[in-house]
Amino acid sequence: MQKPRLLLHICCAPCSPHAIDLLKKDFELTAYFYDPNIHPEEEYLFRLDEMRKFSHQIGLTFISAEYDSDRWFELTKGHEDDREGEGRCDICFRMRLERAVIFAKENDFEYFTTVLTTSPHKNANVINKIGLELAKQYGLKFYEADFKKRDGFKISVQKGKGYGLKRQNYCGCVFSKRK
Ligand code: SF4
Repeated sequence: MQKPRLLLHICCAPCSPHAIDLLKKDFELTAYFYDPNIHPEEEYLFRLDEMRKFSHQIGLTFISAEYDSDRWFELTKGHEDDREGEGRCDICFRMRLERAVIFAKENDFEYFTTVLTTSPHKNANVINKIGLELAKQYGLKFYEADFKKRDGFKISVQKGKGYGLKRQNYCGCVFSKRK
């Protein structure tokens, strides 16, 4: 039986191995890299390239979207001093998930989701709520998950090390880098 197609938003390669292994049992996966939050551009290009190579290594279809960082700065204006997990992150999650759901809709995917919940710093309730709202708005299915659960983060780190993936020491945006 053919598995349903799921578009998997990727924030970075090291957060993805565990989620990919769990999801590929039930879905035909495509990795989708849309992360205009990542700063500076050099770091963005590094993370993009790392995910591209990793996808190739494991035979996963990989798609990257535009790096519209100006729009990210516009949307998060006024939230420069928020701490990680506050309002700026909600905007950042929504922006990335909305781009993913639009791509999924345009390209006949049934489901979309994100590996963002792998990180212990990310609130899965907030991410799932945004995903479900967008699913309703665009008429698609959002796969609710908390990939950090049951040692998911640890497993992802271990698997990532095995693939030679580099874990960065800040979330992505210039404000998280400063802190
Ligand atoms: S800390 Fe991470 S999730 Fe929050 S706004 Fe910055 S890049 Fe986005």
